[in-house]
Amino acid sequence: ATPTSIMVGTGRGADLGVLFRQGSALQALQQANAVVFDKTGTLTEGEPQLTDWVTVDADDEQTLALAASVEQRSEHPTAEALVEFAKQQQRPLKDVQSFEALSGLGVVGQADDKQVLVGSSTLMAERAVDLQQAPEQAAEWSDSGLTPIYVAIDGQLKAIFCVSDPVRKSAKALIHALHQRGLKTAMVTGDAESTAKRIAAELGIDKVVAEVKPDGKVDAVKQLQSQWGRVVFVGDGINDAPALATADVGFAIGTGTDVAIESADVVLMSDNLNVVQQAFALSKATMRNIQ
Ligand code: ADP
Ligand code: MG
Repeated sequence: ATPTSIMVGTGRGADLGVLFRQGSALQALQQANAVVFDKTGTLTEGEPQLTDWVTVDADDEQTLALAASVEQRSEHPTAEALVEFAKQQQRPLKDVQSFEALSGLGVVGQADDKQVLVGSSTLMAERAVDLQQAPEQAAEWSDSGLTPIYVAIDGQLKAIFCVSDPVRKSAKALIHALHQRGLKTAMVTGDAESTAKRIAAELGIDKVVAEVKPDGKVDAVKQLQSQWGRVVFVGDGINDAPALATADVGFAIGTGTDVAIESADVVLMSDNLNVVQQAFALSKATMRNIQ
């Protein structure tokens, strides 16, 4: 490829809202075999709302206050939804003595001398929280594409929140367009397996890898590379940065985290996912002009 045609291509990309940070990405896209997506904040809008919750033998007000107090220290969009809900319910937040964000899992903190754990079922399993008593709603929520978020206090399950994060309107058409270009598609997410499968099925995505942490996303990319060939990864979160760096081409959502953007070769400046497919079209046109 001549430097001039690459320059012209990257310029056109910028007009479309696709910033090629590396000219080489414009060339590499043409050779891609598959596109792998993060779910939350990438295929979904990433502005989750808390739609429902149940407590398990617990004082509702205290449980909500403790969970929201710890979540207030988190930057995860799910945390914002929970804190917002607690504020609407006029639950005063408590001082938090210790706090740790567990990427792709949830948070753990200390408030009112209690250990508060908020996050996925994977997190609960890792911390040996018994989910046998979990109300049936949790399974119903995830089967319908919603995300259950568990709260354990001093190791005991106390509540489950239901979080809804709608799929971006442009997602389904994008998956279809990528398939028409002969590309395979996959979703790799830290979210619950049944939630992920439901959303992937709605979108027609070929393969799902769920309940993975950031290094699990890297493993998934490597596995898909050995299965399918060259892989493009599209993500927005801190938890996507290692996978973005591992993929043959990394696309970051422009409204995503700085870490994701720094790890990416291409930054999407539009919230319409159609630009992903336009990037492929641009790559093809650029390479054709060169040859
Ligand atoms: P994705 O890989 O789809 O972008 P994340 O890695 O951000 O998702 O999160 C994976 C899962 O971890 C979420 O579905 C949620 O269950 C849990 N999680 C992560 N951070 C938090 C948090 N601050 N509060 C509650 N749950 C969280
Ligand atoms: Mg994400």
